[in-house]
Amino acid sequence: MALQENQIIELLKQIKYPGFSRDIISFGLVKKIEISEGDLKIRIEITTADQNIPKQIHQEVTAILQKLPEVTSVDLDIAVAAPLQSAMEAGGLPQNKIAGIQHIIAIASGKGGVGKSTVAANLACGLAKLGKKVGLCDCDIYGPSVALMFGSNERPYANEHQKILPIERHGVKLMSMGFLLDEDSAAILRGPMVTRYTQQFLRNVEWGELDILILDLPPGTGDIQLTIVQTVALSGAIVVTTPQEVALIDARKALTMFKKVNVPLLGIIENMSYFFCSDNGKKYPIFGEGGGKREADKNEIPLLGEIPLEMETREASDHGLPILLRNPKLKSSEDFLSISSKLIDIL
Ligand code: ADP
Repeated sequence: MALQENQIIELLKQIKYPGFSRDIISFGLVKKIEISEGDLKIRIEITTADQNIPKQIHQEVTAILQKLPEVTSVDLDIAVAAPLQSAMEAGGLPQNKIAGIQHIIAIASGKGGVGKSTVAANLACGLAKLGKKVGLCDCDIYGPSVALMFGSNERPYANEHQKILPIERHGVKLMSMGFLLDEDSAAILRGPMVTRYTQQFLRNVEWGELDILILDLPPGTGDIQLTIVQTVALSGAIVVTTPQEVALIDARKALTMFKKVNVPLLGIIENMSYFFCSDNGKKYPIFGEGGGKREADKNEIPLLGEIPLEMETREASDHGLPILLRNPKLKSSEDFLSISSKLIDIL
């Protein structure tokens, strides 16, 4: 029986992108399949600086296709695009850089609830306060919180070129993947559809000129994070964690993920490091002490800050005004501003 494209696709679905649980078909990396009797011509495109990744994909694809008795030859072309640094070194503009944006930074966490969005929102405000043109994009389709933290329920408009215009609040340009989806549509978006939506979304926002775009990633180290890394050239990533071991276990996974895809790690931010009791002036390390510092040292990256657990921080977010703007004198606000300043120095 003659070979069918479907047959090939089914086989290629068994090949996972190295280090991830998702396969190369669902990531949209296989761009062309041509069949001429038993001769196969396949083109795969990936963005990585790790030479082992194309090598491993090459071996696995060839091995799996040669198992089909109908296949006589496999001509496999793997095109590798360099991520930001190497392309910049080569003197060109990387294809996955967004025009007008100088730096894109991802704020990630292994676990939900550690304060990643709070950190992202306050850093955006801190950077804006220090005179930078800043954008903040909430990439969590399933649980967007940036809109809530900035007290915005506006829906963005598209311009005449069908590009979506961000909303501006407190000097920060805001966009959320959740702005364009109602809850029901978000709930049914799965697998490759999420990938496609994420890619289209990131390419179709009219950010204008920005010094820094902060991407508030969804928690975890799954497919959507890899999609983002493959879609835009990140200048670096920051991992947010709380000090206790259960959070650190997942933070380590996030650190490993960025290393694997060659995104520079700019540092760790430890949140909820201690509770400061204003009644007696004592610090209580509710979730333990020193976890963020140990992890940063182990990875030879900076610990950018240790932010206290403060009731006002939570209240500020719930009231739609990040704490840095609502009460700049609070310890957390000072910490967020100091981290913003360190970030500018690092970049
Ligand atoms: P994540 O993005 O990691 O899921 P969020 O930023 O949504 O976490 O924070 C979870 C909850 O904890 C929110 O209610 C937020 O206001 C609160 N929170 C985060 N950081 C602090 C802090 N340092 N002090 C007090 N509350 C905080």
